[in-house]
Parts: sequence; structure tokens; C-alpha cells
Amino acid sequence: MRVNLDAPLPTGGKAVVDIDWSFVVPEGGNNNRGVREQVKDGWIYEIAQWFPRAAVYDDVTGWQNDPFLGQGEFYLNFGNYDVSITVPHDHIVRSSGTLRNPLQVLTPTQRTRLATAMAGDTSVFIVRPNEVATTGARPAGTGPLTWRFTAENVRDFAWASSKTFVWDAAGFRYTPVGRTIELHSVYPREAMPLWSDISTKAIAQTMRSYGRMAFEYPYPQASNVNGQVGGMEYPMIAFCGGRPGADGTYSKNQEYALAAVTIHEVGHNWFPMIVATDERKWTWMDEGVNTFLEYYSSLDYDKNWPAARLRGPAPNIVDYMKDADQVPLMTESDFVHRQFGNNGYSKPATGLVMLREKVLGPERFDLAFQEYARKWMFKHPQPADFFRTLASGAGERLDYFWRGWFYSTYSNDQAITKVESQDAQTYAGTTKRGKFYHRVTAENKGGLVLPLELEIEYADGTKERVKMPAEVWRNNEKAHDYGFFSDKEIAKVTADPDQGYADVDRTNNTFTKGATTRPIG
Ligand SMILES: [Zn+2]
Repeated sequence: MRVNLDAPLPTGGKAVVDIDWSFVVPEGGNNNRGVREQVKDGWIYEIAQWFPRAAVYDDVTGWQNDPFLGQGEFYLNFGNYDVSITVPHDHIVRSSGTLRNPLQVLTPTQRTRLATAMAGDTSVFIVRPNEVATTGARPAGTGPLTWRFTAENVRDFAWASSKTFVWDAAGFRYTPVGRTIELHSVYPREAMPLWSDISTKAIAQTMRSYGRMAFEYPYPQASNVNGQVGGMEYPMIAFCGGRPGADGTYSKNQEYALAAVTIHEVGHNWFPMIVATDERKWTWMDEGVNTFLEYYSSLDYDKNWPAARLRGPAPNIVDYMKDADQVPLMTESDFVHRQFGNNGYSKPATGLVMLREKVLGPERFDLAFQEYARKWMFKHPQPADFFRTLASGAGERLDYFWRGWFYSTYSNDQAITKVESQDAQTYAGTTKRGKFYHRVTAENKGGLVLPLELEIEYADGTKERVKMPAEVWRNNEKAHDYGFFSDKEIAKVTADPDQGYADVDRTNNTFTKGATTRPIG
């Protein structure tokens, strides 16, 4: 909708717009973000994307008017919200922001339990399972109750309401004397014990891991709601699916699934809720960057998290890198016509893991990444801002990496095609630097240019690692000769020995010395 103002709005000026609207809560449907669901004890209402708001006007696009089609999510302004939600007497409400009238909507017992929960860091039931939908769990009276929440500096506001909610909560502090961040989980009884065991614990893990790698969570609370929405993020509140089996038990894989979705959706508070990228255009900037942090947070949660279940390890992206129909990451969100998960989530996350673990090393990467995250808090960074801030913070040109991984669909295929050795005395007139002079020929058969990492295995069984930066391909991007002296004879040379660079054809990565070896000259 376009609203014409009576007069142009000057910089720093103010216009007030009153809008009457209504919102029908959808029931079911795979692609609904806000939805109502009937469970054993009643209905759960997850309310999101429910009010009209202003499009973003920025100094890159002007008015960002791209419509919401589903894949390209949101591009939103920051604002302060004061929201009063009137619901049936027996409902419990969680939302973005801070509850402002606990005296009116919580019982004295619940307020005491909340204070106990916030004083510690272990989860306390605010509404116990056996109290769900009982009169004792609600203040006296029968009429509708109005819950008032305020949220500052958020780019959206979502909430959930139900009489079916069990509610557990815990406090979280970055330092023992730091401010308390409230962690809340609400879920129906059939979500137990999976949710009561895992949800709040996984929110706390998100606080720790994302706080370490990006910045400390600036908001007062984080909530996780179980309902029909499989996984969706809003400021300070996430909607996550996943329940145990009918017999009330859950497997390790169900735990991983709930921990993963919780870490992911709560993690979205950092990207894009606070580092507020344009999701209508660039899925990788929120889903990719968030999935990158989810990877480390998952391993912090459980160091034995199965690699096959993670998005981040290079071997897991190889099949997609071979896909002839993939589109570059720098494709606007709604034009990614297939493999949206691999394109928007896995490939960018894997690229950043590669950049951190292999190209730059954690020490330099982490400083550069923190610089990006902190510098763009509560702002609207563009892809170029990300690329520039990381390269500048890392102190290294990364043009080749951005170009290859983000702007192209090339894959990486390094091959060791030749190993030649000769007597050092003959070659160099001395054996001072070693008895042999070896020359390893590496060829770059894929389109990507990446560092060249070799494992050299000698005839005596010892091994050595050589790591060369991507710049070795600068003058010839197809082949590079690496020559060196050694006292030992070479038995085998392997490129990308740790499978860290998503090499799509490993049959040519290892050269075993034998009949094909010939002397130089
Ligand atoms: Zn996501």
C-alpha cells in the first residue's frame, strides 16, 4: 500500500499514521509463519507477520518494495513497540519484548518462581505440567486479561498465546555479575520431556556461542515456543517444531533436531534481527551467516554432534558443488529456483567455515567477523559491506574468494599430476639443503581458486604438511609447481588432505610415486 503524505517529511521529521486492520490466524498449512494448532489441551496460537508496517527506505535501493513471496523473508526498520494483547483468561502469552504488567497477569506463585528462575541459571517451571489450564494457574476472575509488552530497538514483533502452555524459564549472565537475560520456553504437555529437557538449555547455548563469536545478546529476554511452525525467528521469540514420540520418549536424533532448530532460530536474533540485512535480496547474509554460527554452537552444545547432521563441514557440500543447475549465492532470494537449503544455508556456511579454518585461521577470521557483526548492529549492511569488512579486518585480500564462492558456481578440483625428483648435487651443485630436489605439479581443474595444501609422505613413512596461499595461482591459475629440497625420497603427495576445501574429485588428489615419475632435465 502507498500512503501519500500531505507534505514531504523532512529529515528527522515525524508523521503519524493510524491504521485499522484485522488478521485471520491461519490454521495449518506447510508454509504459514503464523498459525493456530489444536493440541490435546486446546489451541496454540503463534502470531507473526500480523500487522502492517513501513517498507525500508535506504541509501542503496531507495524504497525496498520487493513483495513477500516466502523465500526472501524480511527487510525491516527498527522501532520501539508497546503492545497490549487481550486474550481469554486461561491463556499464557509470550512475545517479543518485556512483560510490563506481571501483577495483573501472573499469580503470586508464578512471580516468585520467575524471580527464583532469574536468580539462578537452571530451568524452573513457572507453569508446571500438572497446572496447565487449572484455575490455580491464573489470577482470580474469569474475564479476558490484557498482557502488555514493550520491545525496544526491534525490527519486528511476534507473540504466542495458549491455555496449553507449560512454561519453564532460567536466567542467563555472560559474567557472574552481568545483567540477567531471561530465557523462556513454552510448549504443550505432549512436547515433554523433549522440550523441558532441551529447549531452555539450547537457548542458553546460543547465548554463549553467538555471544563469543559475534557480540553479547543485547535484548532482555529470549523465548522459544513449540507449535506447528517448524522453525521461524522473530526478535526475542522463536517458533520451533519437534515433539517426542507418543510414548513420551525421544531419541538422540530428536534431541539434535530440537537443539539445532532452537540454536538456529534463536541465533537469528543476531543475524538478521540485529545485523539487519535485506533478506528479500540476500538469503546467504542471514541464513548463511546464521548457519555458520549454528555450526559452531552445535559443536559447543555437543562436541560429538554427528558431522553428517551439520551444515558447515566441507565434504557435506561436495554434491551441491557438482550440481550443474546451481545459481550463485549472489542471486536474489526469490530467484533461487531450486536447492534453496543448499544455496541459502549450507554453501555460504561452508564457505565461511572454510575461510575461518583453512584460509585465514580462526584468530584472524574471528576478529574480522566480530568487527563485521559489531559494526553493523542495528544497521542495514549490504553484501559489499560484509566482503569489505571481513577482508579489511583480516588484513588480506579476499576478492578471489568472494568472486569464486559467492558470485560463481564454480567448484574446486585440485589435482596432483606430477612428482619429479632428482639428485640435488646434479640439480643445484650442492647437497647442503638436502639430497634431493623434488618438484610437485598441482593443477587446478575446477574454476575456484583456493589455497593449496599438500601432505607429503616420504619413503620412510614420515609426513609433512605444506600450506600455500591462493596467491600461488596468481600468474597461472591452471597449474603450479612446488619445488623443494629434502634428504628424503617422496612416496606420495596428497592435495587437500583434510578434505577442507570441498574438492569435487578426490580421485586425482593423491599422486603415488611409481612408474609415472621421471627425473627432471
Ligand atoms: Zn534461518
